[in-house]
Amino acid sequence: MQIRIGNGYDIHRLVKDRPLILGGIKIEHELGLLGHSDADVLTHAIMDAMLGALSLGDIGHYFPPTDPQWAGADSLKLLAQVHGLLKDRQWHIVNIDSVVVAERPKLKPHIQAMRDRLAEVLELQSDQVGIKATTNERLGPVGKEKGICAHAVVLLQAN
Ligand code: MG
Repeated sequence: MQIRIGNGYDIHRLVKDRPLILGGIKIEHELGLLGHSDADVLTHAIMDAMLGALSLGDIGHYFPPTDPQWAGADSLKLLAQVHGLLKDRQWHIVNIDSVVVAERPKLKPHIQAMRDRLAEVLELQSDQVGIKATTNERLGPVGKEKGICAHAVVLLQAN
């Protein structure tokens, strides 16, 4: 059985007048994430983990922030493209585990919707997409609500 593991990390700043989108789900909050795309930090960490598992580089390589084509991009569309790269190479996802670190808002009520949405895009069952949420205990920039970060691990298996 041929398997590969990948890990991904991302962080985006929290600012006013931006939507907060995590795992493809828009969450009501007075602050949102700043970025060239929709700044969906969870989806970005998962994409980097998928690419990392096959040593295919990082999302900055495929979707450079200098390219106007990706301005305001829906990260789920980028996720589908990265999934396509895996499928083209005859790999599939066994499971994903991830954690979002945010002081606020409370993410627990949105976790299932995020899992369902990501599973839909990646042609998985929701129980193959793990998402956990934690705070940073008010420590550091994430704890001071300057940003939100996400970590992800992905296991792939050859078809
Ligand atoms: Mg990012």
